[in-house]
Amino acid sequence: MLKSIIAILFGLSLLTACGGGNSEAEKEPETNTETMAEENNEATLSIDGNDQMQFDKKELTVKAGQKVTLTLTHSGTMAKSAMGHNWVLLASGTDVASFAEKAVAAGEANDYIPTEGNAVIAHTALIGGGEKTTVEFTAPAAGSYEFICSFPGHWSMMRGTLIVE
Ligand code: ZN
Repeated sequence: MLKSIIAILFGLSLLTACGGGNSEAEKEPETNTETMAEENNEATLSIDGNDQMQFDKKELTVKAGQKVTLTLTHSGTMAKSAMGHNWVLLASGTDVASFAEKAVAAGEANDYIPTEGNAVIAHTALIGGGEKTTVEFTAPAAGSYEFICSFPGHWSMMRGTLIVE
């Protein structure tokens, strides 16, 4: 008699557990879909430049059409005039060496961004040690895009690839 009561109680508790599980399973897909939609529309990137003339990342990845927010941090202490950093995203097929020459010619007054031509997809301001700057742009079509720091002499060390999926 006692055994059968325990068996019934055990059976009821299993049913309750199953019922609870089902209602949770029904709620989850909605939440996941919303989260994924936001992730697909926006991308947040960060990259760091230091006094050793180095970016901490050689590769960044986003998806085509995403609204990208990139924050450049200068973790060094040197002044902008001596060790300035920016983050410049170049159009496909840009000759980086000749672009860098134009950037130097543009001068510090223009943050070493050429005032003519359409080689620049997006760029941050030029900053010195301890500073931080953010740029927002829309990710271009799928492909690989080079990014550099266009401060004189930096591009050969400070360069990397933005991969757009
Ligand atoms: Zn630099």
